[in-house]
Amino acid sequence: MNLKDRLSHLNYQEARKLLGPEGDRLIRQGGRYEIDIAAQVELDANRFLVRLNGSEVTIRMDPSRNRKLHYSCSSCEAACEHAGAAFSLILEEKLALGLAIPPPDKAPLETLSDEELLQRALEERAERMRKDRMSLESADPARRSPPCPKREQSARPPPPPAAHKGAAPSALPLGRSEAPR
Ligand SMILES: [Zn+2]
Repeated sequence: MNLKDRLSHLNYQEARKLLGPEGDRLIRQGGRYEIDIAAQVELDANRFLVRLNGSEVTIRMDPSRNRKLHYSCSSCEAACEHAGAAFSLILEEKLALGLAIPPPDKAPLETLSDEELLQRALEERAERMRKDRMSLESADPARRSPPCPKREQSARPPPPPAAHKGAAPSALPLGRSEAPR
């Protein structure tokens, strides 16, 4: 496993631990640094380097200590904001740094598309109801009831989906039960 793989798996808890008792604060303060990745960061299989206003933070993997990350700052002896900035950058900009992000389980993607399907179904349903109401009213203008506040109340939108908790999927307007399961 090289450094890039290692950094791509770095999470907040781990970075915080590496920085010691002040880890939370150092990552938060370090996160305020404006960093131009192309100009200030070098990353290869063995070394991550970021230059910050005259300080250089280097992160390496310590081969003798089982993948443990080792960082150092050219300006400071102990854990510092500069190191916090380096870890903050790694945690937030994995894609921009070219670090691979492990693919998540398929489940969240399916959930997302389900939500999109449901959202579209609700929108189409609202649109359909609106059109139905319009064609109903224009079909026979003579019988249209006179304007009346009570009529507006009956035209309010359907209750939110939360009210149907536990309802079968076939209750959805798009008939999603058609999909083979
Ligand atoms: Zn420093």
